[in-house]
Amino acid sequence: MRYFLLLLPLLLFEGDAGLFEYRTKNFTVYCRDATLAVQVGEAAEHYRDRHAREWLGHPIPNWYAPCPIRVNAGDYAGGGATTFSFDQGQVFGWDMQVQGTSQSLLESVIPHEVLHTVFASHFRRPLPRWADEGAATYEEAEAEKRPIRELAREVVGTERQIPIRRLLVMQNYPDNLGGIAVLYAQGFYLVEYLIDREGKQEFVRFLDTAYQTNWDTAFQTHYGFQNQETAYTAAWQKHNKIDQQIASRYEVKMFTGADCRQCEEDRRTILPQLRARGLVVKVLDYDRNLEQARQENVIGLPTYIIYENGKRIAKLRESRALSSLLQRRH
Ligand SMILES: [Zn+2]
Repeated sequence: MRYFLLLLPLLLFEGDAGLFEYRTKNFTVYCRDATLAVQVGEAAEHYRDRHAREWLGHPIPNWYAPCPIRVNAGDYAGGGATTFSFDQGQVFGWDMQVQGTSQSLLESVIPHEVLHTVFASHFRRPLPRWADEGAATYEEAEAEKRPIRELAREVVGTERQIPIRRLLVMQNYPDNLGGIAVLYAQGFYLVEYLIDREGKQEFVRFLDTAYQTNWDTAFQTHYGFQNQETAYTAAWQKHNKIDQQIASRYEVKMFTGADCRQCEEDRRTILPQLRARGLVVKVLDYDRNLEQARQENVIGLPTYIIYENGKRIAKLRESRALSSLLQRRH
């Protein structure tokens, strides 16, 4: 499942009239657009094979019953949900519902949902949510992953995060949207770190070990960490280092003045946040730097001038706009 889905009235199916059906070996696609039905079916088959080879190291046999994919194409945020049941080590009752633009369906939603089916075929038991969703999110397009990574960086280390010992064993989604988003973000954050370290197949072996023993042993065996907390901290340090590298590209000049109340406010609230992100911020008093202020065309206070790799890229009056500009450019 992709959590964006929950933010929308889901899948506005209007009955089966006018639905085109396209069958491949393992999927049956239902979609109003015949061309898209073919594209979705072929993409699902392609990712089923590719995911199996990349994550498991071998292809998986065809399913005896195809997995239906119900497509709702349109200008929605990409989303999807795949359900199946396990019984005595068998998977059955597949059902996949997806929605979004054709680009988001083909590049993110289908690769994501199909990984859930490949994992279900392999593990034949429910996986902890962080691992299942983190890995599926790893298969999405970079543009979709970026906001999830950003959210992780915002919550990890704060009271909003799910403590690692709880996160790793959660079999269900939290019961509120904010909590679900955090679960996805932290899951992806940890999975991305582990996969970048040792690859996809090691991650699958790690999940098997965790199932047979426990999380601490699995982290020791596959990644050399003493326990889950050490692994989580290492992931945090790695992500943080990338933040620092990005931040070092930027420089911010802040023009302030003696009688500027907003300047005082910003210095107390915004400045520490920017500096905490590793940004270099120079505070310049307008009256003492008249020449520079004229060159930069400063006409009100406070004013922020942003440089990227030494080149001026923006002039802003609103400190809030400043944070969002820097965030977007990451
Ligand atoms: Zn999912």
